[in-house]
Amino acid sequence: MKMARVLVVEDESAIAELIAVNLRHNGMLAVLASDGEAAQHAIDDVLPDVILLDWMLPGQSGLVLARRWRADPRTKTTPILMLTARGDEPDKVAGLDAGADDYITKPFSTQELLARIRAVLRRRAPEQASDLVTLGNLQLDGATHRVNYQDQTLKLGPTEFKLLNYLMHHAERVHSRSQLLDRVWGDHVFIEERTVDVHVKRLREALGQAGSMVETVRGVGYRITAKT
Ligand code: CA
Repeated sequence: MKMARVLVVEDESAIAELIAVNLRHNGMLAVLASDGEAAQHAIDDVLPDVILLDWMLPGQSGLVLARRWRADPRTKTTPILMLTARGDEPDKVAGLDAGADDYITKPFSTQELLARIRAVLRRRAPEQASDLVTLGNLQLDGATHRVNYQDQTLKLGPTEFKLLNYLMHHAERVHSRSQLLDRVWGDHVFIEERTVDVHVKRLREALGQAGSMVETVRGVGYRITAKT
């Protein structure tokens, strides 16, 4: 297996070095960048497998960078793990809304950080599935990573794509939040169920007209249906 390349965007050098040492010790390749500009250079050079992105950075904030990389075709499917010193739920949700796949609050343990990185790397794997799935006018192509609705191509973030991929492969059935965390996120030990709600909301927005196909089943969870 190819060594995972992790871009660590963190201005506090002591934290960055500590993370880098732990990543290397665990068989990953760590690339350090102390601000957005250095990070962009690193990305232009070699696309990383995961980006660890600090929220508070000199110059452009992690939030701005997450939004930019999510909008860039080159980085739009690269998992972003936000590092935040803040424990406030609104900030975490803002990070997820900006396109981050997950967040981790400082101070964090090395074990927790590694578990989260492995989880986002694992989540990437199902994307390689090359099958085509159709539900009503909605079509998802695992090979090209494309989603079409009535012959229009829709833009989805990586987590939304995986969520839709799972829901479409198990259409009409209701899935609880914890089931979705298990099946889509792969390792939900550290992820709150609220994360599912945030990504479902983003998925509906990305689907536009087809968003109503993703139904909330009160008190149970979510399902996708062709019968809207
Ligand atoms: Ca910082």
